[in-house]
Amino acid sequence: MDYKSVSVQTISRLPKYLNYLKAQSKGNSQNISATMIAEALGLNDVQVRKDLSLVSDGGRPKIGYLIDELICDIEHFLGYDDTHSAVLVGVGNLGRALLSYSGFDEYGLDIVAAFDINESLIGCKINGKQVFPLNKLMDLCKRMQIKIGIITVPSKEAQNVCDILVHSGVQAIWNFAPVHLNAPSDVLIQSENMACSLALLSKHLSEKLSKPQ
Ligand code: NAD
Repeated sequence: MDYKSVSVQTISRLPKYLNYLKAQSKGNSQNISATMIAEALGLNDVQVRKDLSLVSDGGRPKIGYLIDELICDIEHFLGYDDTHSAVLVGVGNLGRALLSYSGFDEYGLDIVAAFDINESLIGCKINGKQVFPLNKLMDLCKRMQIKIGIITVPSKEAQNVCDILVHSGVQAIWNFAPVHLNAPSDVLIQSENMACSLALLSKHLSEKLSKPQ
């Protein structure tokens, strides 16, 4: 399929479709319509139809999509069928949790090694992934042509780690430290900031609780 340029919003909805489709693929029906997906996920069906038409040409009038084919099309579009090796830097509470999660392979992400400055962690294995000293990061990334780096160090260390990753040839960074990172424009920084989601929850609650009952 010849992909047209797809918006960030559409890309962020695709994993939701995928999760739902995978659950449905275990059921009796082989087909699904955009309307059914929209209803199940509380989305607008015109939007869902448009999103799916951008990544799959398998939709048929009155029949919908073959579920397994649509799963393959979405996975292919997102690059999940092409595994990318990643390294993780910072083996603390969050780093260990990410290393211990075995579900990333479904998203084409394989964390092959971890790095830390804490000597007591060096040589440990977490979920089969070895922890190396930080001074080995650049060499391993270059040797294994690693393109994804995951940052789970304290905020004040994050820019330094980001710089090392960039110099090591990493092209995409998944950053969990709540700090803005500077990198060349061809390096994608995807930051996860829980404070943003929590701010929405907190604001919603304070508005509800301040209203007279
Ligand atoms: P942590 O203190 O438990 O772990 C940090 C780890 O990074 C330690 O093992 C430390 O030795 C290592 N480290 C420090 N400087 C380093 C460097 N320059 N190079 C390599 N390793 C280095 O912290 P945490 O709770 O895992 O949080 C890590 C980051 O993720 C923080 O920025 C935090 O704000 C963010 N975060 C954490 C959570 C959470 O649930 N724990 C949630 C959201 C965001």
